[in-house]
Amino acid sequence: MESVTEVDEEGTSVFIIKKAKSYKKFESGTWWRTLAKDTGEMTAWFRCPNGHFGTLSDHSIASDGTVSPSVVCPEKGCKFHENIKLEDWNASGV
Ligand SMILES: [Zn+2]
Repeated sequence: MESVTEVDEEGTSVFIIKKAKSYKKFESGTWWRTLAKDTGEMTAWFRCPNGHFGTLSDHSIASDGTVSPSVVCPEKGCKFHENIKLEDWNASGV
């Protein structure tokens, strides 16, 4: 899986997470939309580039897909800790 980073206006490097093609093709470095059980708000699952699953339910996702605060992979020992942006977040509908 190629990894893609962008640099925003403040010079912060942002890691781009692509939308998974389907729930069954949920590859490393992609995200998939879901609803938070407690709040009913739109959130996402993601897989870090090393293949671990995580949820973004405790993060906020802007309409352009920017996730804040930065995301730490929940897998013990995984070094993934990035500012991330969900590609096609807005375009994908409900
Ligand atoms: Zn990881």
